[in-house]
Amino acid sequence: MPQLDTRAKLAILADAAKYDASCASSGTAKRDSRGGKGVGSTEGMGICHAYAPDGRCISLLKILLTNSCIFDCAYCINRKSSNVRRARFTAQEVVELTLAFYKRNYIEGLFLSSGIIRSSNYTMEQLVEVARSLREDHDFRGYIHLKTIPDADPELVRQAGLHADRVSINVELPTERGLVDLAPEKSVPQIEGAMRDMKSSIVDARDARKRFKSAPRFAPAGQSTQMIVGADAASDADIVGRASQLYDRFSLRRVYYSAFSPIPDASAVLPLKRPPLMREHRLYQSDWLMRFYGFAPKEVQSAADPAGMLPLDIDPKLAWALKFRESFPVDVNRAPREMLLRIPGLGTKAVARILTSRRWRNLRLDDVARLTVSIAKVRPFIVTADWRPTLLTDRNDLRALIAPKRQQYELFAA
Ligand code: SF4
Repeated sequence: MPQLDTRAKLAILADAAKYDASCASSGTAKRDSRGGKGVGSTEGMGICHAYAPDGRCISLLKILLTNSCIFDCAYCINRKSSNVRRARFTAQEVVELTLAFYKRNYIEGLFLSSGIIRSSNYTMEQLVEVARSLREDHDFRGYIHLKTIPDADPELVRQAGLHADRVSINVELPTERGLVDLAPEKSVPQIEGAMRDMKSSIVDARDARKRFKSAPRFAPAGQSTQMIVGADAASDADIVGRASQLYDRFSLRRVYYSAFSPIPDASAVLPLKRPPLMREHRLYQSDWLMRFYGFAPKEVQSAADPAGMLPLDIDPKLAWALKFRESFPVDVNRAPREMLLRIPGLGTKAVARILTSRRWRNLRLDDVARLTVSIAKVRPFIVTADWRPTLLTDRNDLRALIAPKRQQYELFAA
């Protein structure tokens, strides 16, 4: 590997990390350095946010330790057989960069992943060393998200949890078939075994802290994972099913969906085009339906077409409502919360406002209109004190009436 200066390494390794979507910093413990103790905080004003070229918000220093790898996952630009320029940071260099960026207020923490060099254990040791040094040598109190390597020694993975706020283990692909075809060096039992160990360490640490305040924290922001969408033949229904299984079995905080990006010199088994970004967006919406709106995975899956794909032109909640019209209209003045949450166009905050307001008076259509972006989308599915949709809910052309109109963009618009 040629000698590169830090700036050149940063350019390569920050670019190589942009394919990883799982970097949100929500849900961690609050820490700060007020009172002159330590460096950094997980909250606070003035923290700059960076945006990746694809539009994702990155407020962390998001880099790989190295983009060299001994594995050959077909979908990955950093795979062994790829012809990309390689670079590698030492653990010490990452520590120094993180502190320098943090002190300049460019970032609120570090997201660190890596290709696998020498062995899984060696790589994991390096990742842990970065987090350990930041915490122990520099008393760093900012956010740390470490990617862990499923087949590394469980003790090393456990150490990652002692220093990081969040740890993640990627399932990579939604189906076992996909993993066998595209990442033959990885295996579902290995990945799930690591997730299971992580879950029990998180639960044990939480129990211990309930009993002893001095018990060490362990990944207080939990564990997450990422699935690549559109690299294999898995349908949206497959992805929704897999995500819900992962949430249930391993108590994940988040499943991130990352639309596959075609890579140079790709294997012939991969698609030539990336899936529409809207597909990724619809999967995030269906994820929210399961986590915050009380939808069972089977219900979300039933909003898909016979091939298992969610519509791209309307959101999955509207798709479900149009398919199951017998559940509507819902009386906003009487229906329980779980039914209000099923109404297309009403979010959890709007539902909370409805529940509070209706204690004092009967709600009218105008009251609901103030809580939604599009009352036209909501009207066919609700009853209010002054509105009943009568035949509107069952009209054959209802979808055409309320689906967002396709926009024709101007060719030379500024
Ligand atoms: S192990 Fe990770 S970095 Fe290496 S080829 Fe597979 S996905 Fe890419």
